[in-house]
Amino acid sequence: MAEYYAGVDLGGTKILTGIGDASGRIIARSRSRTEVERGERAIVKNIIRSIHRALEKAELEIESLNCLGIGSPGPLNITEGIVYETSNLPFRRFPIVAMLEEEIALPVLLENDANAAALAEKMFGAGQQVEEMIYITISTGIGGGIINQGRIFHGCCDGAGEIGHMIVNPGGPTCGFKQHRGCLEAMASGTAIIREARKALQQQEVDGFLGFEGSAEELTGFQLARAARQGDQAAQEIYEEMGFYLGIGVANLIDLLNPELIVFGGGVMKARDLFWEIMEHSVADHAIPAVREDCRLVEAELGEDVGLAGALAVAISRGGKDAGKED
Ligand SMILES: [Zn+2]
Repeated sequence: MAEYYAGVDLGGTKILTGIGDASGRIIARSRSRTEVERGERAIVKNIIRSIHRALEKAELEIESLNCLGIGSPGPLNITEGIVYETSNLPFRRFPIVAMLEEEIALPVLLENDANAAALAEKMFGAGQQVEEMIYITISTGIGGGIINQGRIFHGCCDGAGEIGHMIVNPGGPTCGFKQHRGCLEAMASGTAIIREARKALQQQEVDGFLGFEGSAEELTGFQLARAARQGDQAAQEIYEEMGFYLGIGVANLIDLLNPELIVFGGGVMKARDLFWEIMEHSVADHAIPAVREDCRLVEAELGEDVGLAGALAVAISRGGKDAGKED
């Protein structure tokens, strides 16, 4: 009987594959290069090979798997199983689901990676007790997913949940999308923090940051956070401003969607001590008080495994091989 699931976290440089059981426990994993430059067929081959390698490690046959979940950067169309052109995967319309189903005897399910991560936190992480939840990941960019009645909220065409591109500071810096100014990603991502710090150095608004001697280009988030913790006021102010704008975005989400829980993940959460309190004040200042009271703000629980857990969550939420056939 098929008891297991396969999940693939598809990235621009690497493919992470895991075999898991229905509780989301990962029993075997493998990792390979995506090889984007070699084209769609090569990516599909690499995915198939990595699934077989993970199966070998788990000492399982393909018959033990119910289905395969794929977490991919968007934009995409999950019904048609197509990944559109993204900065990481430069294809116009990559029919990844059809191409995989030709090669492997498994139903394949596609999901936006941030939505998949949100579902993983709901099913296996911080959101297990709630049905109305928002997940926000803050790293080089800002992404997220909305869980409504326990399921991913997709909107009409799978474009919902682009939390990072809500405008929180009209006329502010761009996020990389031309003419997209002052979105949450442009104001509060890891990239935004470093951009502000480098600008301060280049425009000589500061002489330097505590404990950092290099040039603006050499500055990293780790060094800036360390300077802030050592008492560097300019570094602290950069994190405070980030927290302020993040709070505006979070307040908008709270007022719009009335979530019970907002879960924060991503690498920038390592600097949580530098912006969390300011963010909470900003949320309190900008959200409707009664709606704010309903919502808890917490840290994600799945850590670096969230991408893989997300792909598995997508597969598991579909159920067994025969799920949906009676529909
Ligand atoms: Zn944007």
